[in-house]
Amino acid sequence: MTRLSDLSARLAGLEAESLRRTRRRLDSPQGVCVTIDGRECVSFCSNDYLGLAAHPGIVRAVTEGAQRHGTGAGASHLLTGHSDAHEALEQALARFSGFPAALLFSTGYMANLGVATALLGRGDAVFGDRLNHACLNDGALLSRATFHRHPHGDLAALERQLAGSQARVRMIMVDGVFSMDGDIAPLPALLELAARFDAWLLVDDAHGFGVLGEGRGCLAHFGIDPAEVLDRVIYMGTLSKAAGVFGAFVAAAPEVIDTLVQSARTYVFTTALPPMIACGLQESLRLIEQEPQRREHLAALVRRWQDGVRGLRSGRALPSSTAIQPWVVGGSAEAVALSARLAEVGLLVPAIRPPTVPTGSARLRVSLSAAHTLQQVDRLCEALHDIEARHG
Ligand SMILES: *Cc1c(COP(=O)(O)O)cnc(C)c1O
Repeated sequence: MTRLSDLSARLAGLEAESLRRTRRRLDSPQGVCVTIDGRECVSFCSNDYLGLAAHPGIVRAVTEGAQRHGTGAGASHLLTGHSDAHEALEQALARFSGFPAALLFSTGYMANLGVATALLGRGDAVFGDRLNHACLNDGALLSRATFHRHPHGDLAALERQLAGSQARVRMIMVDGVFSMDGDIAPLPALLELAARFDAWLLVDDAHGFGVLGEGRGCLAHFGIDPAEVLDRVIYMGTLSKAAGVFGAFVAAAPEVIDTLVQSARTYVFTTALPPMIACGLQESLRLIEQEPQRREHLAALVRRWQDGVRGLRSGRALPSSTAIQPWVVGGSAEAVALSARLAEVGLLVPAIRPPTVPTGSARLRVSLSAAHTLQQVDRLCEALHDIEARHG
């Protein structure tokens, strides 16, 4: 067989198992009412939790930023790519998140790779929840530290692994909000373990920043004061989800931040974000701080969804209080069929299949956004009731 026919056979295998991924083409700005592949529909697919991805004020700030700074940063931060716009945003993010220092990265993926590889090496140890995001796992692997994984939420297993480790440098990695289940990590207990076993705690708050803790994220949600945990906690927030733009930041003690500047390879060897993005994010941060009604409405939507699916038997909700509401149906083919039936009535909800989630737990992943109306959530719940009545 040629190399290409090897690949074709692999793709055909995915197709046969309902695991082949395809892309939909978005013909409108990101939002709740979108045009996808030429059809108008209501989307429950994006991570645009606060409805900021096409906000006119942010668009204006980016446009003005482009006029002032041009389009490209033109260099890495350590050469001449670090502009006053980046620096101002880092200061604003540090202040808002409650840490003394913050550092911008181009993506959350790169931020996690950068932290893991800058702070860990051969002979060190990483401890991660099985449901952690792929980029935490990739960071752990790339760091060459010994990588211990524990079943989702199993703190007793984590404790045993920590107790058994002789590594000099240890790091616990965790999603603040788990991206496929929507549950919030038990941070107070994880902090206690980190203190007892003298470990770093890297918190990936991709889905919590902007949403939880009055927008300050999952630490604030639990009332954890960053100033009191500076010697352990490294906080990573993304700026592409609730914040509606692009990029990510790490907030931590100045010693951590300076170490990343010196040696995080995904910081040093890459071009800085376009400064206009940093300008847009200043406006986004202002909206996150000054418009709490977006979060209040989102919470009302979550309650509406949970009430609306009560009594259905074709799937089950997982215990999530966040904008991520999984509807677990089991098999990949069932999840794909349900997603297709909803699409027929103009409701877009993605089917999430293995390997993204464990085998047997394929699901619809309903992402709610402050831009949804209560009526749109009702429409989704009614459609699920209709489908169940018709197809069982
Ligand atoms: C989306 C996501 C990331 C990656 O962030 P990007 O900025 O999109 O690269 C990291 N961690 C989690 C948990 C995520 O959901």
